[in-house]
Amino acid sequence: MITLKEAQDKVQQTVKRLPPKPVLLSSVVGCVVAEDVVAPIDVPQFPRSAMDGIALRVADLKGNGPWSLPIQMVIEAGDTERYILRNGNVVKIMTGAPLAEGADTVVKVEDITIDSDNAVISEKPQRGAFVRPRGNDIQSGQVLFEKGTTLRPGDIGILASIGLTEVRVIPRPRIALISTGSEIVEPGRALEHGQIYDSNIPTLSSLLTYDGFPVTSQARVCTNDHKPLRATLAENLKNHDLVITTGAVSMGDFDFIPEIVEALGGRVLFHKVAVKPGKPTLIADFDGCWLVALPGNPVSTLVGYFLYIRRILSLMTGVPYEPRIAQATLADDIFVKGNRFNILGARLESTPQGLLAHPSKRQESGRLSSTRGIDALMMIEGGTRTVKKGSSVFVELTNHERLP
Ligand code: AMP
Ligand code: MG
Repeated sequence: MITLKEAQDKVQQTVKRLPPKPVLLSSVVGCVVAEDVVAPIDVPQFPRSAMDGIALRVADLKGNGPWSLPIQMVIEAGDTERYILRNGNVVKIMTGAPLAEGADTVVKVEDITIDSDNAVISEKPQRGAFVRPRGNDIQSGQVLFEKGTTLRPGDIGILASIGLTEVRVIPRPRIALISTGSEIVEPGRALEHGQIYDSNIPTLSSLLTYDGFPVTSQARVCTNDHKPLRATLAENLKNHDLVITTGAVSMGDFDFIPEIVEALGGRVLFHKVAVKPGKPTLIADFDGCWLVALPGNPVSTLVGYFLYIRRILSLMTGVPYEPRIAQATLADDIFVKGNRFNILGARLESTPQGLLAHPSKRQESGRLSSTRGIDALMMIEGGTRTVKKGSSVFVELTNHERLP
């Protein structure tokens, strides 16, 4: 059986970036730009006013002020006509409106008085004041985002301002979730004897969505027979980049995942990892689609997300993900059993002496409630023993911090 480190290294070496494709602006945030984004137009494409006021030609203000000049017309933002400023006139102009040809300066409304049809100006403005020239924001041909940049929320407006509706990026994977088990019932329905509610799909879809990865399809499949599972898996592998299943991957009579993977021609990267929880995990490659088959125990699902899926998402999308590993001091004794590497949840506390890790109580792979409030996974070597309070442990942080 391979170690967790070996399993993670295999993932790191094997999972490739998805091929770039154009993605709609509405879903491009968080994606890595696949080629330089070059502005196709100047922004703005016309000189415009930065203020509500009047536009004039400074050369028309001869001698000493105050000057009283006739108002030729009013130009509103969005007026698509091209107007020419008459000699010795001004135009009333609104913020964002195109300047009349010949006007070179804007005086803001607070600095003028209106005398019937004339504007009265008492101080000579600086030539060019409050005029935003063509290309003031962005110039045509300018590289706005270099290949490899991860697009942030604020960047999307810049892309819109140059008129793009889509951008060539490394897309997000199309993700399918399948939970298996004849005992699994969708919350909202009444339970019969022997049934439990499905918590794995809600766990995974929430983790994924919170990390910015919407789930494309979800299914719950009974496993009293292998056929429906095989059909659902085959279908989802065809039109997704990542399929995550839970359950049916261990040693039971109805654990059909390994044989279905083989029958469907998947290349198994590994099956079974010397880690607790999550030993039966299987990861396989189906030429363009990855299958991550997590064991059904709800804590294994949660832990599997952090151990494998987050890393796979980063490799597929090219968005760097550095697992945040820290050293912490154990706040209580913990008893570990067996030779497998242990992953245990903990709540972290910052103290002047460093991080303190409070292990969750009553940890067991089937006790999902023991994961409440954890913000780190402690990494504890195998070997039956008590790890004493005060020992130093490595932790991988799981608390979510959103990007700025
Ligand atoms: P399995 O890996 O299919 O043998 O399942 C291991 C344990 O996890 C069993 O007790 C299952 O009932 C439970 N389990 C499997 N899938 C789910 C699920 N989606 N939600 C909650 N518990 C599950
Ligand atoms: Mg099962």
